[in-house]
Amino acid sequence: MFDFTQWPPHISDRDRSTLQYRATTYALAHGLLYLPLGDQPPAPTSAIHAPMSLFPTPFPRTLFQQAQRLQSIYNVLYSRIAMDTEFLDRTMGAEVGVGQVDEFTGQLWSGWRDLRDRGLAQPLHLGLFRSDYLLHQQDSTLSLKQVEFNTISSSFGALSQKTAEMHRSLESSTNYYHSSAYLTGTNFPPNQSTSGLVAGLAAAHTTYNVDGSRILFVVQANERNIFDQLWLEYELLEKHSIHVIRRTFDELVHQARISQEDSTLYIESEDQPPLEISVVYFRSGYTPDDYPTKTQYQTRFELERSKAIKCPTIPLQLAGGKKVQQILTEPGVLERFLCDESKYGSQGVFSAQAIAELRQSWMEMWGLDFNGEAGVRNARDRASKLVLKPQREGGGNNIYKEAIPAFLDSLPPRERPAWIAMELISPPTGLKNYLVRAGSGASVEAEVVSELGIFGWSLFGEGKVVDEKEAGWLVRTKGKDSNEGGVATGFSVLDSLVLI
Ligand code: ADP
Ligand code: MG
Ligand code: MG
Repeated sequence: MFDFTQWPPHISDRDRSTLQYRATTYALAHGLLYLPLGDQPPAPTSAIHAPMSLFPTPFPRTLFQQAQRLQSIYNVLYSRIAMDTEFLDRTMGAEVGVGQVDEFTGQLWSGWRDLRDRGLAQPLHLGLFRSDYLLHQQDSTLSLKQVEFNTISSSFGALSQKTAEMHRSLESSTNYYHSSAYLTGTNFPPNQSTSGLVAGLAAAHTTYNVDGSRILFVVQANERNIFDQLWLEYELLEKHSIHVIRRTFDELVHQARISQEDSTLYIESEDQPPLEISVVYFRSGYTPDDYPTKTQYQTRFELERSKAIKCPTIPLQLAGGKKVQQILTEPGVLERFLCDESKYGSQGVFSAQAIAELRQSWMEMWGLDFNGEAGVRNARDRASKLVLKPQREGGGNNIYKEAIPAFLDSLPPRERPAWIAMELISPPTGLKNYLVRAGSGASVEAEVVSELGIFGWSLFGEGKVVDEKEAGWLVRTKGKDSNEGGVATGFSVLDSLVLI
């Protein structure tokens, strides 16, 4: 097996400084950027490079290929889950599912249920997905294990492509000082995540098929990760001649209007004629913080009701819940979505081998409400090897290991259904990298864990997947002692792969 403790390969301090100089200047020159902390003028005047690693991270070629292969199945699987209203009502609903005890899930589900009853104007859904994995080491065997599947606001598509290009540029310009035989061009996999994700947005826009209509990006106020979003906008405009407009929920409260005749979504402004919207792409709306009052929920529901294609719809967002991920591991559930020939036709079912490969990439999971007290008892007994997760996105919400028993003591029993327990993945230990953060001087050497994300998209509705594709990848690397791994939340850096 590859010796992860020997990474990164040895280089001199002087070469390390040169690599850092080349990395940061490359990032600044190529838009691998973030807005600085603190208030910014409406038109920003400065930016900082994104946090990044100096070396790419070694990853077994076969496991990378496996993750890419699985993406198509996941695209179809989550599309079908989002179209299975009965399943979502039972799992995430506010009458019998998680929505009973999780306020945020309940709000989204209830809004969707009311709209369903009144009739929705757009049958199609668009998903831009990211399936996240860690390497799992058992004795001397490595396997690929899924952390989670994201169906809303999956970020860092564009910046991860830039990061891979930055590492490739370091390799071309310095050969990484011949420090490792692995660091040659053929081991750096291509990453076209910007054009890949944009292909999904463009497919939805084209299907909507109205000249002059625009894609709406629903964004958070004070977003620092704007360049990641802007690269998608530039690609849409330059390669597909599609215009984008960006609005926050608060702006949409006043500016979104739905036509009475056919529920067309328009964005109004004082000095321009109303703009018709083809696709609503949410880079916001995944956390309760985005809905401080009822008004933001109402706006979300207005968008949902409209004829524009939503990325994602509420059911697709609900399908991305951690509870759904756990339920999928229960006997027969995967078969319901992937093996039902009477529902999906002989072309729409997957081989036993494909399904086995998917299952092999999962850790054990159960609900804290499993079988009376058994769910909580098991979680207590096995706490040191577990993480507990609520129905939240964006990092910083999970409970790990030794914090679990006290947390279980404090959790009211009625809230148990909102939480799942998941076995911890054990990534290889001893792997290090040099992490570079803007404004912090020299790069920092740290023992790290790297999480691989595979992007994909799917356009689907009325029981069918219209089109789906795998759409590039991302690596986020975090210090080993941080349980969580969000780049935006400051715990990790952008990275890329060198295949071994
Ligand atoms: P979120 O939707 O908030 O990103 P995740 O399920 O991705 O939630 O969990 C956040 C982070 O916690 C992950 O990026 C990973 O670093 C860590 N993590 C989550 N599940 C596991 C697990 N089973 N084993 C090890 N680490 C995990
Ligand atoms: Mg995550
Ligand atoms: Mg997530």
